Amino acid sequence: MEFKFNPREEAFRQEVETFLKDALPPDWAEKDISWPGGYGSGGFRGDDTLEILARYRKKLIEKGWNTISWPKEYGGREYTYIEQAIFDERTSYYRAPNIDVIAGGMVAPTILRVGTEAQKKKWIPRIAAGEISMWLGYSEPNAGSDLASIQTTAIQDGDEYVINGQKVWSSLAHISDYAWLIVRTDPSAPRHKSASFFLVETKSPGITIRPLQNILGNYHYNEVFFDNVRVPAENLVGEKNMGFYHLMTALDFERVVLVGIGGFKRILEELVAQVKKTERDGLPLPNIQSVRLKLARIATEIEAGYLLTWRTAEMLDKGLSPSVESSALKLVATELSRKMAEAAMDIFGPYSLIEEETAFTPFRGMAPRGYLDCISATIGAGTSEIQRNIIAYRGLGLPRK
Ligand SMILES: Cc1cc2nc3c(=O)[nH]c(=O)nc-3n(C[C@H](O)[C@H](O)[C@H](O)COP(=O)(O)OP(=O)(O)OC[C@H]3O[C@@H](n4cnc5c(N)ncnc54)[C@H](O)[C@@H]3O)c2cc1C
Repeated sequence: MEFKFNPREEAFRQEVETFLKDALPPDWAEKDISWPGGYGSGGFRGDDTLEILARYRKKLIEKGWNTISWPKEYGGREYTYIEQAIFDERTSYYRAPNIDVIAGGMVAPTILRVGTEAQKKKWIPRIAAGEISMWLGYSEPNAGSDLASIQTTAIQDGDEYVINGQKVWSSLAHISDYAWLIVRTDPSAPRHKSASFFLVETKSPGITIRPLQNILGNYHYNEVFFDNVRVPAENLVGEKNMGFYHLMTALDFERVVLVGIGGFKRILEELVAQVKKTERDGLPLPNIQSVRLKLARIATEIEAGYLLTWRTAEMLDKGLSPSVESSALKLVATELSRKMAEAAMDIFGPYSLIEEETAFTPFRGMAPRGYLDCISATIGAGTSEIQRNIIAYRGLGLPRK
């Protein structure tokens, strides 16, 4: 085993760095206030943010870096998943915007694995060109951790299916073109052979979207109601009634793509830098034992996150399914999200509560936002308890219950 990038990977890493320095303003990472793992704090301070985002997105698509690991015949670069992981690590370190992460990072790789040739031809080029954005329609009021309990149905009627039911916590549904929707297509069949995936246009007649405000007061997710929504049968993706098996593949990609381990490293670096220039009661913070221990624990767990990042990528490159590893990665990273926020709040004491940027604000006011936002990290994409259950059941061979 050789623990380093090969020359091609190293060159690619450099190329990504150069690209980011060119494509984003030099102070971008210092302005961004998103918390790694969190869903709701994504906010950039500045009037020109939208313009910068649009420019970055265009450059990224021109470069083909929204499709790094996809096969060339579908518009991809056909790089390895290790190279994809290098890209994700560097972009998260520089806090580059996450572009088309659902369509490009979760749905397209799933279609490439489970879709028919016709389905790939229909959807992949449009996703590669950045023409369509997507939201994930999995959770329902009575089905979250146990997605096999979903009740939304799609019943075939000639060349169409008719969808009825409700989804909830649907992130970004209000600004995305298509729902990547799992619904029950054979309600009488055994649960795991009764569901299918569809791509459903969000503006279809019969869809009603209601906003839900998150803990930071942001509008990030929604309730979505389906009332006799008609979708062409050709929009079914994968094999009919095998949706729960396809869901496992989609969730593996989601857990990997959401982490962005470089963002955790960046926060730790900023935390350490702030600690080094701060005193408490005349004593420099770096000399306080409890502060040092907290930071050392975080540094160790970030290292575990890095190793799991490379390990899942290596398994994907070998065509294996990194189910246990992606759960472990999601678990380690999102628990870290919470530990880092708690550490930041503890270490800087009452000053941590200041969000507004003043001469006394430590850490650019990130701590209070992170403290609220990190709660979403260990719930979205499957809670920590569910990740531990997957590791126990699939990894250790323990019984399901
Ligand atoms: C910020 C955010 C964004 C989200 N975005 C989306 C989205 O875009 N699309 C989407 O479909 N969903 C989304 N979700 C929903 C998310 O996937 C669910 O909230 C999550 O899977 C948990 O489901 P639940 O809320 O129904 O909780 P429940 O499943 O009811 O769980 C409640 C509690 O019980 C625990 N629990 C449940 N079952 C077990 C078990 N077997 N063993 C041990 N403990 C258990 C859970 O860990 C949790 O602590 C989002 C959630 C958040 C917080």
